[in-house]
Amino acid sequence: MRESFESLRASSLYCRRCGKAMPVRERLLLILPDKEIYDYLCTGCADSLGQREVSAGELLQHRAMQRRGHGRRAR
Ligand SMILES: [Zn+2]
Repeated sequence: MRESFESLRASSLYCRRCGKAMPVRERLLLILPDKEIYDYLCTGCADSLGQREVSAGELLQHRAMQRRGHGRRAR
């Protein structure tokens, strides 16, 4: 194992420079109060192949899924 990929959910995207679908590396580009923006970099030539915005709601959902215990409604 030369590189440690924490998440393998990154998919492959077509890279024009490499001329084929290449695995991409997800990189946190920008953190905003209500969302985070990720950049997808080609692992072959490090070209940016796309970006993805993750809304705050999506992040919360993601974290909620990581926590096994479901929230009890405490008033
Ligand atoms: Zn490439």
